[in-house]
Amino acid sequence: LQDRLGSILNGLTGRGALSEADVSAALREVRRALLEADVALEVVRSFTDRVKEKAVGAEILKSIKPGQMVVKIVHDELVATLGTEGVSIDLNAPAPVTVMMVGLQGSGKTTTTGKIAKRFTERQKKRVLMASLDTRRPAAQEQLRVLGEQTGVATLPIIPGQGPVEIAVRASQAARLGGYDILILDTAGRTHIDEPLMAEMAEIKARSTPHEILLVADSLTGQDAVNLARSFDGRVGITGIVLTRVDGDGRGGAALSMRAVTGKPIKLLGTGEKMDALEEFHPSRVADRILGMGDIVSLVERAAENIDAERAAAMAKKMQSGKFDLNDLADQIGQMQKMGGLGGLMGMMPGVAKMKDQIAGAGLDDRLLKRQLAIISSMTAYERANPDALKHSRKKRIAAGSGTSSADINKLLKMHRQMADMMKAVGKGKGPGIMGKLMG
Ligand code: GDP
Ligand code: MG
Repeated sequence: LQDRLGSILNGLTGRGALSEADVSAALREVRRALLEADVALEVVRSFTDRVKEKAVGAEILKSIKPGQMVVKIVHDELVATLGTEGVSIDLNAPAPVTVMMVGLQGSGKTTTTGKIAKRFTERQKKRVLMASLDTRRPAAQEQLRVLGEQTGVATLPIIPGQGPVEIAVRASQAARLGGYDILILDTAGRTHIDEPLMAEMAEIKARSTPHEILLVADSLTGQDAVNLARSFDGRVGITGIVLTRVDGDGRGGAALSMRAVTGKPIKLLGTGEKMDALEEFHPSRVADRILGMGDIVSLVERAAENIDAERAAAMAKKMQSGKFDLNDLADQIGQMQKMGGLGGLMGMMPGVAKMKDQIAGAGLDDRLLKRQLAIISSMTAYERANPDALKHSRKKRIAAGSGTSSADINKLLKMHRQMADMMKAVGKGKGPGIMGKLMG
């Protein structure tokens, strides 16, 4: 019997609406997965809060388990947060369209500059000029010149002794005079964010009026991603994000962190050191990677199953012992409401159409369920556990508290008595009773 009840209750909680317990259990696993994927803590918090709000009470699709339903909602919300597909670099401006690359040292700015230039040159037959504004690292300008030779893209001639802003101004002039379609400015980074770096970026921006400012960030950036994105966006103002080293072990949590705090689109992904290793951003692919779909689905399912199993086992025990008080009745009514009221419950069971009509005829509708819950919640704990103690004066007080009448309370008590008797019968294995018929 316990097995049968277990599977029945499991089946029932598999439909209806997601409960707070289903969602909380599932979100514990989701939170862990996001943190493992290196999503920044504050983003994890705001994200899971948002999901919880959407998920509790959400209708569970047929033939899906609650845990799977939560994962689906998490996945959809993740994709929505990560943003729209295929937002590419915007060239819709008078030539030369200037693209400024910003980011920390070693994030991949120079490499990505070469990749983007190569792509525009080859695929769209654009005339591209690249200029290195990195006067800090000794060989930086030379590095870009070599990339230009490799890819067949023009680079601004190097004049030793010039500062970054001077080079930016010279590059803009050269691009205009040379009739280039696109100018890419490859700036210098620092090992960490500091004021001189931000001041330098702001000045370069002011002197070269870029149409796009792309923040280049390593996908392995963990908790720093939030600070990084906020600083660059707040101080310089970015128009998009390029995530590099997506070919590595990282699960790309930085994408979610940076997108969440700036709202700016992720435009491209760097997937290797080679000049062709540049890909469009697909939110659902990155979402799968962040969640580690395979693991998370099974983890979340297990968490949800445990809850269902606990509930089912507890209820089965109560039924067998014949102890079924008004607290249990309130639980049952709550479950019924979750499953779309009595009508919804009946509709799920084969061969009960006739009984459904009878119940509707008897006025056992959802308003009744609500009234019954109101009555039970107006009782003291003692009264709920001991329905027999409900004499006239107590009934009057409860009726006043719940906005009902003594007759309503009597109806509830009668229903409880019938259900308790029936459960005792089911528990002792005597005849199916009404519930047995319903559940069979
Ligand atoms: P910058 O200091 O921001 O200009 O960074 P660089 O472009 O010089 O890149 C630093 C290192 O990262 C170089 O060794 C690049 O080859 C490497 N790199 C850049 N992008 C990627 C990428 O998407 N994947 C991999 N695996 N390596 C990359
Ligand atoms: Mg560089």
